[in-house]
Amino acid sequence: MRKIAIYGKGGIGKSTTTQNTVAGLVEMDKKVMIVGCDPKSDSTRLILGGLAQKTVLDTLREEGDDVDLEDVMKIGFGNCRCVESGGPEPGVGCAGRGIITSINLLESLGAYDASHQIDYVFYDVLGDVVCGGFAMPMREGKAQEIYIVVSGEMMAMYAANNISKGIKKFADLGGVRLGGLICNSRKVDNEEALIKAFAEELGTQMIYFVPRDNIVQKAEIHKKTVIEYDPAAEQAQHYRNLAKAIDGNQMFVIPKPLSQEKLEQILMDHGLFD
Ligand code: ADP
Ligand code: MG
Repeated sequence: MRKIAIYGKGGIGKSTTTQNTVAGLVEMDKKVMIVGCDPKSDSTRLILGGLAQKTVLDTLREEGDDVDLEDVMKIGFGNCRCVESGGPEPGVGCAGRGIITSINLLESLGAYDASHQIDYVFYDVLGDVVCGGFAMPMREGKAQEIYIVVSGEMMAMYAANNISKGIKKFADLGGVRLGGLICNSRKVDNEEALIKAFAEELGTQMIYFVPRDNIVQKAEIHKKTVIEYDPAAEQAQHYRNLAKAIDGNQMFVIPKPLSQEKLEQILMDHGLFD
């Protein structure tokens, strides 16, 4: 079982990219579980065809500790297992703690047991690594493999660099490794070259360049991944390619985060401060 966490700045496309990639993996007959680790609880909407999911934290709040796996796990496209950890009531408590509670509960309910023959678990994790809770999936071997979704926008790269600092810290202590950057294009000038250069400085790779395409929004309105909504679309093929790239990935590194100066230098070298 490969346990993968997807990180990246809020709004960069983590949930969209994760679910579309998972759709590509289930087409390859892989057994996948997605664990949403964002209080937005929209990590599985496209796979489930809607936000039908009751979150782990809501279930625990309403039903107490006597919870079955079926109460928190729903089956979606391609038999993908879907869990949303949920979050605290807005303004109260630590969202990171919900992730810890959820993963512990899933473990105790046997969600990861070998009998399920799961090939991939994806953790779709909120935003930046700002507190220990959000780093939780990287700790104690909960996720061994990280992909960062990034674009050529400076703040997305800044967040990716910060996330790399978190990965480096936990990689030095445990087994977590960076598998690559997924460039989710924002149509920034020179974006592919920029992210390739950034990846190289970090000591990793740009594992795939996902173009920006309005069919993603169209599919989203229909509560579907592009692969389900329009399997023949070019964008669907891009997600299949990304799924294959992750499935065949051999490059796992401890990242080397950049200094702020170096990050700005790369942007400058690619003509983004002109
Ligand atoms: P995150 O999970 O990182 O917060 P989302 O996956 O919710 O971000 O994506 C934010 C928005 O960006 C969504 O409305 C989604 O449809 C859109 N989006 C993501 N990737 C693409 C893409 N490659 N092309 C077009 N729109 C995209
Ligand atoms: Mg999301």
